[in-house]
Amino acid sequence: MEIGDVELYRRKYGRGFRPHVSLLLDGSEFHVDTSPGKSGWNLITHAHSDHYGQRNMENPHAVASIETARILEAATGKEYEGLTFHTGEKVRIHGQRVETFPTYHIHGSTAFFFRDFELLITGDVKDYRELPECQILVTEATYGFPSQVFEDEIDKLLDAASDGAVFGAYPIGKAQRVAEILTGNIGFRAEEKIERICRAVGIKPSKSGPLIVSPRNLASYGGGYVLTAQKFYRWPKITLSDHLDYEGLLEMIHHCNPEAVVFYHGNPSKALTRYLESERIKCWTLNEIK
Ligand SMILES: [Zn+2]
Repeated sequence: MEIGDVELYRRKYGRGFRPHVSLLLDGSEFHVDTSPGKSGWNLITHAHSDHYGQRNMENPHAVASIETARILEAATGKEYEGLTFHTGEKVRIHGQRVETFPTYHIHGSTAFFFRDFELLITGDVKDYRELPECQILVTEATYGFPSQVFEDEIDKLLDAASDGAVFGAYPIGKAQRVAEILTGNIGFRAEEKIERICRAVGIKPSKSGPLIVSPRNLASYGGGYVLTAQKFYRWPKITLSDHLDYEGLLEMIHHCNPEAVVFYHGNPSKALTRYLESERIKCWTLNEIK
């Protein structure tokens, strides 16, 4: 599929496709958040496992921010062998000039901007305000339904923390977000893996304070709160999200002002794609790319 000078495609895998999307830019091949290809370079937007950095640890043609590489190393115990940069730097990758921007989704999360093609690849986003305008926006829609509107419940989190609650937080990303909030207040302790990843990005636990554990381990601590905006946990929930909600997603798209949007991750609703088309923004989902 072509949008302007950009060709988007998906690599075949068995009867289906590799996760996410690949791009051809003036003969240069890039794979976004997917497993290594036979040729081309892999752009890793952040360290969450569904963005496939862990598959790229030994790939010399992987590209990720230094913080993303550090988190991947702390999470896997392997050495990252790809190219790194400080988020915010301009880099040359595979002959192309690329600008990098923070998306504040988790530590190290980075958007890649190919100015020559007016192409922005965001990965997952919590705060879009530093992102540039573009013509083609390749982005996420984790909360792609109009009903998915929420606000982070920081007060509820701090109240529960002072009552000595146990918090279930995904070890990469969410755990560091809550750890930083608690560090500025009453401190925190964490399970070993979470502590390792916190230390990798410079967050230090204290000797006392509420405990942060993986959500799947909450039962062994007698229960507690899950920190999420998702609805599929059986424990009481405190809303704390690493993502834009539906309204934030629309605000980001208007901020970046693209002619075309490709949702390469998440769950965009018909309501979302219809709304964008009514605003004369062309729109594709991952299933429409072959
Ligand atoms: Zn993510």
